[in-house]
Amino acid sequence: MEKENNKMGEIADDIISGFQCSWCGVCFEEEHGYPVICDDCWKNATKKQIKSSGVQKAIYAEL
Ligand SMILES: [Zn+2]
Repeated sequence: MEKENNKMGEIADDIISGFQCSWCGVCFEEEHGYPVICDDCWKNATKKQIKSSGVQKAIYAEL
């Protein structure tokens, strides 16, 4: 049986692997290996939001 939501699955994988910002979807030069958010999202986020979503700040540059 083929997986129907393959594209959605790939996007989710990129977020989980830290290749994309978890919140706005911007891509980075390298995978972080864990979920991250970009500088802009980090600046706009409250500490509570960051803590509850379990993301970390991106260390690689955005593409
Ligand atoms: Zn972002």
